Parts: sequence; C-alpha cells; structure tokens
Amino acid sequence: MKSRDFDREHLWHPYAPAVKGPPVNPALRARGSTVELEDGRRLIDGISSWWCAAYGHRPESVVRAVRAQAEKLPHIMFAGFTHDPAAELGERLLGLLPEGLKHLFYADSGSIAVECALKMALQYQRGCGRPGRTRMAALKGGYHGDTIGAMSVSDPGGMHAVFSGILPEQFFAPQPVCRFGEAWCEEDFAPMEDLLRTHRDEIAGVIAEPVFQGANGMWFYHPQYLCELRRVCDELDILLIFDEIATGFGRTGRLWASEYAGVVPDIMCMGKALTAGVMTLGCVAASGRTGKKVGTFLHGPTFMANPLACAAGAAAVALYESRDWLKDVRRIEAVLRVGLEEYRVLPQVRDVRVLGAVGVLEMERIPAPEAVQRVVLEEGVWLRPYDRYIYTMPPYVVTDGELGKIVGAMGKLAAMA
Ligand code: PMP
Repeated sequence: MKSRDFDREHLWHPYAPAVKGPPVNPALRARGSTVELEDGRRLIDGISSWWCAAYGHRPESVVRAVRAQAEKLPHIMFAGFTHDPAAELGERLLGLLPEGLKHLFYADSGSIAVECALKMALQYQRGCGRPGRTRMAALKGGYHGDTIGAMSVSDPGGMHAVFSGILPEQFFAPQPVCRFGEAWCEEDFAPMEDLLRTHRDEIAGVIAEPVFQGANGMWFYHPQYLCELRRVCDELDILLIFDEIATGFGRTGRLWASEYAGVVPDIMCMGKALTAGVMTLGCVAASGRTGKKVGTFLHGPTFMANPLACAAGAAAVALYESRDWLKDVRRIEAVLRVGLEEYRVLPQVRDVRVLGAVGVLEMERIPAPEAVQRVVLEEGVWLRPYDRYIYTMPPYVVTDGELGKIVGAMGKLAAMA
C-alpha cells in the first residue's frame, strides 16, 4: 500500500500535524454514496466528502464534461480571454439565482470566494466615497473558510482561535439564539442592530451563513434574522453578503437557504456542490448596483474560471436541474428526524438537530479519532465527528437503507463518547 506509507512520511492532511496525524483511509474510487478503499472495503459517505458531493460521487455527466473539456482547452487565462464553459455555467447559475444578482466572479474555492466578497464590499464603499468603512460584521458561531480574511469573519473562539490578535479585527454579534422552526423573538436581532448602528461609519459589509451555521456551530437559526439584517443593511448602505457555500443547491431543503427568509443579498458566495464535488470552484454573485460601485475589481488569480472547473460546474448545475432533489432532501430529513431523535435520551447527547439533509448530534464530548476509525471500518460508514458534533450530510442519492446504517453508526459513536 504505497499511498499509505508515503502518506505517513510526507503528506500533510487538513487540520492535522505533519507527523503522527490521525488515521487516514486509502481511497481508490467512488460512485454514488460509496467510497471504495484500496483493500476493497466500502464506506457509505455520510458527509458527502465535506458536503461537496451532494448528488453522489463521480456523477457521470459531470465527469464526461470534464473529460471533453480536457481534450479541447484545459486552461486559459481569463484576463483577455473567455470561453464557453464559463458562459454556460454563468447562464445556468443566473437561471437559479434570486433576481437581482447579476455579476458573476469565479474564484478558486469557497474560501477565496469569501475573500473576493469581502474585497468587493471594501471596494464598494470606496466607490460610494466612504473609504473609512474598512471592517466587516459577522456572527459568532460562523465559519467562512481558512484564508486570512475568511478566518477573520469566522467565529473568533472557533477553530481559528489560535490566530486571534493576528487577523484583521472585525465586529461580531452573538450567535442567534432563536431556533429555526420556533417562534421569532425580536430580542435576537437587537445586538446586531445595535452593532451596525453604532459602527455604521466603519462597517463595509455583514457576512452570514443563512439559516445554517456549519463548521463552527452546526446550528439552525430563525430566517427572520436575515429579514432584519436586510432591513438594517438597506437603511445604512452596508452590503449584505450571504455565504451559501455549504447551504446552496438544496442542502437545507431549499435551493438556497436564504429562500426561507425570502431575502436577496447584495453578494452571494457559492462553492462545494457547485461542481458536484468534482473540481474546486467558487463563485461570487453580486447585484448590479454592487458591480457598478465596485468598478475595477482588484482580483485575478492565474487559474480563474478554469475551463475544466467551469465545465464541471455547468454539468453539475444541469444535474441539479434534471431532478427534484428537494424531494430526496425531504425524504432524508424525515428519516434523520425519526432516527436521530432516539439518541436524545443518551446522557452524552446535549441536543439533536435536523434540517434538510443535515443531521446533528451535539455532544458533551466525542470519541477519540482512533475509536471513530474503528467504528467507521466496522460499520462501513464514513463519518468525521469534530469538536462537539457527530453529524451527517449525506449525498442526496443515499438510499433509506444506507441512511439507516449512517444513523446506526452515529448512535454507536454517541454511545461510546
Ligand atoms: N464557507 C462555508 C460556509 C463553508 O462551509 C466552507 C467550507 N467548509 C467554506 C466557506 C470554505 O470553502 P473551501 O473549503 O472550499 O475553501
């Protein structure tokens, strides 16, 4: 097993030390909900490869599109050139995006899409003659990526806490308390409104993951919060940025999570399922007014709008349109609600939360990585608990039988925590 030996010596993994990292599994191929390992074992992917393989692994139409594009034009710089995959993806996206978002900027990944959104907000305020508005407002419990700007707007006490004092200092409002599906309480928004009004001359934009805070909170909050954000941002001309990188393409039960609020942001970030998890790509959509005031946008990496990634994106959006995936998401939600609820009685389980194709057990603590690895191999289910969360975000093609196994494995992990 060459890959495992070489890996142990030389390859650095995400959120892991260079030497003696946690166990890793040598993956050989994947299809649908299943990942096959080098030794022939099969794992049901309970987290859709960090939530990007939303329609299942290796979707045929997307792979075909990438292959065809590779034969013609794998890459060309996007300054001074354009190409069909970029236009086709853009056209399809505009058909899905809420009315008002019109300019599309392709980025290399989700984090870079967030960087671009923040830079756009800064340039927007300059374009409006307000160069003093140089900071951002964000929510505690939020997560927006691993680059410097994206970390600076993610929960300051979250997984990037070690960088506090080094990152640009932003403004943070408390995590919304009012849950999705419960009655709205106005006090929930008061601290954010207060913050925005007090620092209106310093704040360029507000960024939030609509409805579902992912990596730093696994928390579903009330959509009315987003309506209130829209109201105050309009009044103060602060740009509203929604990070739909994790929530987009149906994950929470709507195409965009912001649909629950009926709110259109000034800037929206997309990623992950944008290419059905086949290539790295992010996209920032901006309103006409935002585009106008930003003027010449000062960003343009070498691989911007990579044709292979755009071809994957165009085929992935076509795949989204080809089937009523929200029906699958509702089916998954129903199974998770019933299955995970049973674990609420376990003393280590603090809370059980489900929305769309996301199921979360918030724990007092989680098992050690070696124990998790044992359960993964025994149960044939890929899960990656972290912090206080045992969660699933399965591919929408997951069968009820596979879901049952995922729920069972989550229960086993919860019981041994
Ligand atoms: N925003 C959100 C909401 C995310 O969940 C993530 C990735 N987990 C990112 C941004 C960063 O995306 P990427 O990992 O592609 O840089």
